[in-house]
Amino acid sequence: MTSTKERLAGRPDPRRRYLTLAAARALDCNGCGDCCDSSRTDGFWTWGSLPRDQYRPLMDGDPLIIPVMRTASTNEGGFGDRDWRPGDDSDATPTPFRCSAFRPQADGRGLCGIHDRERPTKCGEFPVHMIGQDEDVDARGVMHLETSAFPRCTWYRMDAVADGNAALDPVRGCVDSDGYVVLAELPPSVLGRWTAFGGATEPPRPHRAFED
Ligand code: SF4
Ligand code: SF4
Repeated sequence: MTSTKERLAGRPDPRRRYLTLAAARALDCNGCGDCCDSSRTDGFWTWGSLPRDQYRPLMDGDPLIIPVMRTASTNEGGFGDRDWRPGDDSDATPTPFRCSAFRPQADGRGLCGIHDRERPTKCGEFPVHMIGQDEDVDARGVMHLETSAFPRCTWYRMDAVADGNAALDPVRGCVDSDGYVVLAELPPSVLGRWTAFGGATEPPRPHRAFED
């Protein structure tokens, strides 16, 4: 019998994966560090509601989160520090930033220098511990996690779905929004049922609710 892995050979990575929030929360951050410094997403990822004190109490009086702006001549990423300014503390202001506790690693990852201490609340929220996320998932049934700018993130291309959602069905849930197989390997009992949907060349189409 052809394995699912062989069936997937040559296909691009699946676009989406569906997990309950509980399952997504059971995964570990891999420490890529790409959500800790705006220059690592070329300015896409920003800090909202940056307080005037820039979290100085958490950093022995020095600013923790430092606004940056794009410049032609400063550091590798083309971003240089700027002063905090009124408006950065607004929830509606996306402030490009760097973090003074961020520790880039030789292997390309980046670690948090104060991980074992008090950090800004939002550091522990992204991407599966956001306030109101449980209610949003329950209300919508499926919710894209905001990880599209982070291809190295543990939760890249994942959707959180409510308990009992059809995307978790062992047959219907094994395809993503492009119709590609998501599970790395299917048990023989499921592969037996698979043939009812048309066999290897015709994987079951995703439920309409999960199409982009
Ligand atoms: S405090 Fe740690 S987790 Fe938060 S932005 Fe800085 S390095 Fe990242
Ligand atoms: S982008 Fe994802 S995996 Fe990388 S440090 Fe942030 S939460 Fe962790």
